[in-house]
Amino acid sequence: MAEAIVKIDGSHGEGGGQILRTGLALSAILERPLEIFNIRAGRKDPGLKPQHLMSAKAAAAITNGRLEGAELNSQTMRFLPGRITNGRYCFDVASLKVSAGAAGLIFQTIIPVLSLADGPSEVSIAGGTHVPWSPPADYLEEIFLPVVIKMGVSINMTVHTYGFYPLGGGRINIAVKPCSKPLRPLNLTERGKFKSLKVTSAVANLSISIAERQRDRVIKRFQISRPTFMGAPKLQLQNDIKAVSSPGKGTFLFILTEFENIRAGFTGLGAIGKRAEAVADETVDEFLQYVNRKGTLDPYLADQMVLYMALAAGQSTISTTRITNHLLTNIWIIEQFLPMKFAVKGDIGEEGMVSVKGIAFCR
Ligand code: ATP
Repeated sequence: MAEAIVKIDGSHGEGGGQILRTGLALSAILERPLEIFNIRAGRKDPGLKPQHLMSAKAAAAITNGRLEGAELNSQTMRFLPGRITNGRYCFDVASLKVSAGAAGLIFQTIIPVLSLADGPSEVSIAGGTHVPWSPPADYLEEIFLPVVIKMGVSINMTVHTYGFYPLGGGRINIAVKPCSKPLRPLNLTERGKFKSLKVTSAVANLSISIAERQRDRVIKRFQISRPTFMGAPKLQLQNDIKAVSSPGKGTFLFILTEFENIRAGFTGLGAIGKRAEAVADETVDEFLQYVNRKGTLDPYLADQMVLYMALAAGQSTISTTRITNHLLTNIWIIEQFLPMKFAVKGDIGEEGMVSVKGIAFCR
């Protein structure tokens, strides 16, 4: 008998692309058809944008599935997944509309699905790799991957070309192998001892002095407000200045801190008219918000991990420095598909803990 369609109100909570991506992933994994209405309703640009539509097309491609009503700006669509099929895939957000639509958001949709295929896959995703409101490629590689790998996902990625707003045109290449057994649960409630702090400052097709100014400002800020955990008398800061290859111009700054049990990462992006020092200041501010609290996962990683926790075998518990709307929305959409209830301690904006007993999913 055909599975009943899961009908989802895309305007729930803060709504947004997250409902769509997690919905598509779960629909593909569980082979349950999905209808989403009110997609990004209430936004000033409602409906499917290029990165959302490409996420849906990618989910359909990797499952031999079918889409109905999936067009740019559409606020209702259906996804009728087939069977997950491993292989070589290439997705280019700009093939729908020239844009810097985020490659990282396509990544978020398809990786949990392909890690449950019958064989290995190679995927190339073209689009914005360092664009606002999405996980930058460096973040995915350095922060997200180590955690899912620890849970049992076998994955490797490289950034081939960087893509910035407004041109996009970056490319990430991913190799993912299927998991032979259910994911291990995730228990991360203590950071452990501080290990290292690294700053990467980069430019594409702009003077390297901008990257140096971003880096210098970070150093200056750390000298003024030495984060409390860095008790060492001398600041040990690894730093890497680089010029990256991109079809467009752009700058980014990435602060990565590593503790015994976790890494956290904060990204600043340049923009026309924005001073290098301002890019550094906003990144350092975000970093300080994290280190001055105790939670383990940074707020981005927390919302990105709940799907994996739901699929894992047994009880997972994480602490985070900030409960966000994104996290709660992601939990809500998971609970629409799976018979489970997450326990969330903490209010929005505050530190918190999230736990759930996963379903030990395996195909
Ligand atoms: P909408 O346009 O409807 O708001 P969207 O598709 O652009 O939606 P969101 O729903 O806002 O995307 O989700 C963004 C995702 O990107 C979240 O998983 C979030 O954790 C991640 N993200 C955003 N900024 C960063 C960052 N600086 N570092 C790491 N991850 C990030």
